Amino acid sequence: MQFNDLPLDHRIVKAVLGKGFTELTEIQSQAIPHALLGKDLLASSKTGSGKTLAFLIPALHRVFKSKALSRKDPRVLILAPTRELAKQVFMQLKWLISNQSISATLILGGENFNDQVKSLRHNPQFIVGTAGRVADHINGKSLYLNGLELLILDEADRMLDLGFAEQLKLIHRSADHRKRQTMMFSATLDNAELHYLTEKMLSSPKRISIGESNQQHTDITQQFYLSDHVEHKEKLLLKVLSETNDEQVIVFTATREDTDRLAKMLQDSGYQSTSLNAGLAQSQRSNVMNAFSRGQQQILVTTDLASRGLDLLKVQWVINFDLPKLADEYVHRIGRTGRAGNKGSAISFVGPKDWHSFIAIKGFLNQQIEFSQFDDLPSKFKGLKPAKDINRKRRAAKPKKRGQTETQNKPVKRVNTRAGVEIGDAPMKKKPKKEE
Ligand code: ADP
Ligand code: MG
Repeated sequence: MQFNDLPLDHRIVKAVLGKGFTELTEIQSQAIPHALLGKDLLASSKTGSGKTLAFLIPALHRVFKSKALSRKDPRVLILAPTRELAKQVFMQLKWLISNQSISATLILGGENFNDQVKSLRHNPQFIVGTAGRVADHINGKSLYLNGLELLILDEADRMLDLGFAEQLKLIHRSADHRKRQTMMFSATLDNAELHYLTEKMLSSPKRISIGESNQQHTDITQQFYLSDHVEHKEKLLLKVLSETNDEQVIVFTATREDTDRLAKMLQDSGYQSTSLNAGLAQSQRSNVMNAFSRGQQQILVTTDLASRGLDLLKVQWVINFDLPKLADEYVHRIGRTGRAGNKGSAISFVGPKDWHSFIAIKGFLNQQIEFSQFDDLPSKFKGLKPAKDINRKRRAAKPKKRGQTETQNKPVKRVNTRAGVEIGDAPMKKKPKKEE
């Protein structure tokens, strides 16, 4: 396909041909027509295949051809994982819009914040930036995205690897309206964390995947063990650890107290383990994290600390001593394992208190889960009855009074399942307050 064949604004065609490009690359010929229709896109293709123009061209076309939703807010926001990559995208944008009255600005971390505030006051139509700093401007109220028409995530998987999940969600929420179009580019599409993000941020996206992705897939085996109580979980933990070959492990617990207790128990059993929790000062946390990432400790026991640092840690094993309340957090946790090309294992213990979370996670993963079991450590707990059935039975036993509404009749118990129900299908909600 040639650039001349596309129904593009002539200024764009002129710029591209002027650069000596006549033929579209494969990703461009697949992505651009869809993007021009205003459709969401989830695309992958290898490095150097021309992804940048695949999103810049339809973005610029839209800005040329349609009326802005807002006079002040940026129309297009392009996020890249690193300063370097953001600069490269910005340079391509610059030549594409040279001689045109289109305004664009680059918002990078590590540069003067106030200078950026000033340039944002000029209401640029395009913003290219790194997610962290863009989020800072949203928090600082120097950037509003209500009028954003196009959100583009370049190398989305790398942004997640670098720990920008929270910032991406914030950016998404700040520009969450029906008219927004979103395009996501990623080296690999079958990444659990990415899957979560795409579910939330894209609406019925067109998936385009060209050739081999340039990263090998990460394989994460997920196993679930039923468990009776804490002591049982401790035995399971030791059992699982006895099957590792000194590879590094992150153990997640629900409470801060448990991180200390378990780390101590593991030390007593001869493991090099350490705990990380919100009780530690930031400098202590960094020390713990650094020591662990240098391999000085085998096991890190922690809670869902919302710290950026944890995002950077990659290990072979993730053990959920307790399940997180939100499926989102589960996916985030298991994302700590299975580096590109390597195998990883995520093992979760499911006790009575974890059951609702388990159901939610299962629903979210949308797959059948068979429990694993160690023959010498069987569990008496086999799961709770579905809450729905309990409700139905109660309703059957107690006929509704006239005028009484469904809600009034709802047994309180049902509330407990709410956390679970929210996970799979509700728009992104604030997480419950963490311990820190
Ligand atoms: P990716 O993001 O897929 O790694 P880039 O968008 O950085 O790749 O493009 C790689 C190079 O290919 C850039 O130098 C770009 O100018 C060039 N390029 C992009 N589209 C075309 C095209 N249609 N014909 C020739 N060269 C192109
Ligand atoms: Mg690129």
